[in-house]
Amino acid sequence: MSQPTRMPAAFIGHGSPMNTLEANRYTASWRRLGQAVPKPRAVLMVSAHWYIGVTAVTTMRKPRTIHDFYGFPQTLAEFQYPAPGAPEVAGEVIEVVKPLWCGPDHDSWGLDHGAWSVLAHVFPDADVPVLQLSVNATKEPAYHFELATRLAPLRDRGVLILASGNVVHSLREVSFRMRGEGFGWAHRFDEAAREALVTAPEEVLRLHEHPDYRRAVPTPDHFLPLVTLAGLAAAAGTPAGVLVDGYDLGSMSMTSYGLDVACPGPDDDTDAAALPDPDVCPTAQTNS
Ligand code: ZN
Repeated sequence: MSQPTRMPAAFIGHGSPMNTLEANRYTASWRRLGQAVPKPRAVLMVSAHWYIGVTAVTTMRKPRTIHDFYGFPQTLAEFQYPAPGAPEVAGEVIEVVKPLWCGPDHDSWGLDHGAWSVLAHVFPDADVPVLQLSVNATKEPAYHFELATRLAPLRDRGVLILASGNVVHSLREVSFRMRGEGFGWAHRFDEAAREALVTAPEEVLRLHEHPDYRRAVPTPDHFLPLVTLAGLAAAAGTPAGVLVDGYDLGSMSMTSYGLDVACPGPDDDTDAAALPDPDVCPTAQTNS
């Protein structure tokens, strides 16, 4: 069951749930990622949208597709991502993070849109088993960083760890006049995060000192998955690389990062560059 090579890892800025159905330069980069990695034994998905008061991992054999949003078209509300689960890998997660505690979730969760909006492009055939790890809302970034360093050995067992959030994510400041653009403070914070990820990933733990932190990260749910990738990068002693970058609706960064993956960046792929930025959400009710 062991894999010959260390599996890459990535943080994906997932943005709107509509990305599930769209072809834009972000989704193009997610597809390139799926094509660049060896076929994994399983995907361990760390989604901003399973933000609960405990660390848990899904153990079901057939995780349900959860539609955890409203105000989107019916085609999205009916979307299914029928990937199998990976209960045996869940058992390995629980073991490998000790002495940190991770509980098994047998039936409460499944795959939320932070997972399947991305996986619909990374593995469009839904033929790779997927399990989700919750984002523990009671813990500081340092905990999430440590948890990630403990998860790191799973990369040598064929597990692709994908963290899904957004570096800058402030729904209260969304501006529908700023399609494909970001406010100055969003740029500043995203660039500070990039400097950390691509040079010294542990510096992510100091981003809370950045003057724009509170505005860029009004709640930690979408930011903490970035800390997961930083912890994996630190464990590997390898900085991350940018897979794609950009902004949307003023207050959202779409930057994604890869670890140990050779896939063309946003400036190397003219086909992707020619694709449009994503459509804005159909209502202001987004919880993307
Ligand atoms: Zn989201």
